[in-house]
Amino acid sequence: MKLNVPDYIMSIKPYEPGKPIDALEREYGIKNIVKLASNENPVGPSPLAVKAMADHLGTMNRYPDGSAFRLTAKLAERFNVKADNVIVGNGSDDIIALLAHAFLGSGRQALMPLPSFLMYEISVKTSGGTPVMIPLKGLDIDLDALAEAVTSKTAMIFITNPNNPTGSHITTVQFKEFMAKIPEDVMVIVDEAYIEFARDPEIFNSLAKPLFDPRIVSLRTFSKAYGLAGFRVGYGVMDAEIASVLHRIRQPFNVNSLAQVAASAALDDHEFLESAIGTMHNGIDELGKQLCAMDIKTFPTQANFFLLDVGRDATEVFKEMLKYGIITRSMKSYGFPSCLRISAGLPEENQAFISALKKVLEQPV
Ligand SMILES: *Cc1c(COP(=O)(O)O)cnc(C)c1O
Repeated sequence: MKLNVPDYIMSIKPYEPGKPIDALEREYGIKNIVKLASNENPVGPSPLAVKAMADHLGTMNRYPDGSAFRLTAKLAERFNVKADNVIVGNGSDDIIALLAHAFLGSGRQALMPLPSFLMYEISVKTSGGTPVMIPLKGLDIDLDALAEAVTSKTAMIFITNPNNPTGSHITTVQFKEFMAKIPEDVMVIVDEAYIEFARDPEIFNSLAKPLFDPRIVSLRTFSKAYGLAGFRVGYGVMDAEIASVLHRIRQPFNVNSLAQVAASAALDDHEFLESAIGTMHNGIDELGKQLCAMDIKTFPTQANFFLLDVGRDATEVFKEMLKYGIITRSMKSYGFPSCLRISAGLPEENQAFISALKKVLEQPV
């Protein structure tokens, strides 16, 4: 059969997720695998979320609440907005795709940093829009260059804060200066997937004073700090008019009922959240110390992951580390050929990473 696929679809490279634990077990026949490749919460899901899900299993013959009423109401209350301002999705990936599909007809452009989260590019291309990549300045998102790249074709700008994969961040002052240069009809999507980990009080937090600017669309997720990556729940807070457009095109049941119940419960589990974030902060600090003692350069971060420069081909090091059951992420295809990105694990996982890295780096190149 001759497939008739538009060029813009064929130009998309499939998203490559961090290697799953199961896959490494199958391929290498090893156990006790440590995964530091996808910025997940290593502690686990919130126990309150687990209990809420277990209580809900008996009603799984029913469709989910398509409006996600309870979760949406909780999020609205948490951020001091109306339910009309909140959209939940099958991960924030879902909301990124909805934004692109709704607002990027052919010829319209989306600006994004290079490198950045791959789902921006994939969703923009899928919509027939044009991604315009603005290289980082060192490890930072280049806000000046993004503002300068705006044209009459620009519909949206993606900003990740803290940034993935570099861990850098944008301050409130920097963000304000940036917004002053952006036209009224350009949407600024602020992806705050890692904001819960930020330690710098100067960091811009789009929901500290929500809806102060109708151009801003805030995206957050339960996949990272809240430990619910497997459930796929994310949310957006935005102008009600933008939200109403997204509601037209979303799948009617885009968040499954277990995910809704789990996310609602996790949102109230302050104790778990605080302790999990503490564990990851300690992990970042401890890994930083040990890598410094090994003379390995690490880069500052406001997230639960960071870049480290292994001083040789990062993809080779990634592959060697797999043999020790450690899954990391090579940043070679992201423009950092000698850097790995790792997220904080549990103390014993961090130790396993350090000892494997020592062995790998002892080998001649
Ligand atoms: C992990 C991540 C997300 C969240 O994705 P989900 O679909 O909610 O799991 C969004 N943006 C960035 C930059 C991320 O790293």
